[in-house]
Amino acid sequence: MSKPVCFSVKAYLTPSATSPLAPAVIERREPLPSDVKIEILYCGVCHSDLHFARNEWHFTQYPAVPGHEIVGRVTAVGSAVQKFKVGDTVGVGCLVDSCRTCASCREGLEQFCDLGLAGGTYAGWDKHLNTPTLGGYSQSIVVTEDFVLRMPANLDPAAAAPLLCAGITTYSPLKHWKIGPGQKVGVVGLGGLGHMAVKFARAFGAHVVLFTTSKSKVADAKRLGAHDVVVSTDEKQMAPHAGSFDFILDAVSADHDLNTYMNLLKRDGNMTLVGAPEKPLPVAAFPLLMRRRSLSGSLIGGLPETQEMLDFCGKHNITAEIEMIRMDQINEAYERMLQSDVKYRFVIDMASLK
Ligand code: NAP
Ligand code: ZN
Ligand code: ZN
Repeated sequence: MSKPVCFSVKAYLTPSATSPLAPAVIERREPLPSDVKIEILYCGVCHSDLHFARNEWHFTQYPAVPGHEIVGRVTAVGSAVQKFKVGDTVGVGCLVDSCRTCASCREGLEQFCDLGLAGGTYAGWDKHLNTPTLGGYSQSIVVTEDFVLRMPANLDPAAAAPLLCAGITTYSPLKHWKIGPGQKVGVVGLGGLGHMAVKFARAFGAHVVLFTTSKSKVADAKRLGAHDVVVSTDEKQMAPHAGSFDFILDAVSADHDLNTYMNLLKRDGNMTLVGAPEKPLPVAAFPLLMRRRSLSGSLIGGLPETQEMLDFCGKHNITAEIEMIRMDQINEAYERMLQSDVKYRFVIDMASLK
């Protein structure tokens, strides 16, 4: 296959695990028949961007351009595109492609494609350019229409950008575990993912308890929808919750003790990890054996469920709480994210890259 015609765009990239992100120029392909060309307006800053930029998961290829919470405007479409037209406001999340033929792809669970993360918006493989995929910290992106999402018109596009990862990553496990009225649900960590989990669990009718290490977030957690907030470093606050949860979603980005939370589950309760810390988290046998508890994981969400989540957010007016930054503030934003000092998602105003 010959290389498609390309154009240059400004981006922010990092050349190594230890370098800060810096301005650069990258190439995108001109739209092929089923491609949508998107001017990026806003891009959310996910903690995965930081793990990836610093090679904390040990598979980053450099130069690396993070960013997978993309909202933009369609500026051109290929000749075969059916669903989008120039001027539409659209979203792109963590996936830009998949094999489309494996069992998971056929079920619309493209996040579990047999090709693994090859279709990632970053950390994937661009089969057209034969290079690693480059993410949304850039002026524009070209994506095959099947991986482009419709943004509800009533939502603020900047505050809706984090739905493309933080939103779907928390919506999907809450749906999978059938969270609803009458259930007691815990959310661990009030960051980008955690604050969306609180909003969704509340919207689904559960009793929501937020666990935080930051005393300063207690009032915000209640405002965002938590019925109760527990400062997890205070044993006196933790003890009354032992053995009482149907479900706990763990959205912590760093080392922490899972067993403490497992002990809060009821018989047959489940804890699902969405956080992806760099180092393995030790799991003790007894918190699992007792009461037949289970521990699982969940990865983002497939295209149909991501669209369903966006439509749900449109209907219920759900967006992220954001702090807008300029592109040149990204390295400072990463440092603040490491201090848990984010309320509750940074979003880059991509106009600042022009
Ligand atoms: P974030 O905004 O930085 O939030 C992480 C939160 O974890 C912090 O705000 C803090 O909440 C808590 N925390 C941080 N360090 C802690 C520590 N040492 N002990 C206990 N709690 C701590 O990150 P995010 O963007 O929400 O992402 C969270 C994790 O999910 C990351 O590892 C990310 O890579 C992963 N992720 C996974 C998926 C997936 O598909 N599974 C998708 C997206 C992201 P408090 O201040 O409230 O304690
Ligand atoms: Zn993400
Ligand atoms: Zn597949």
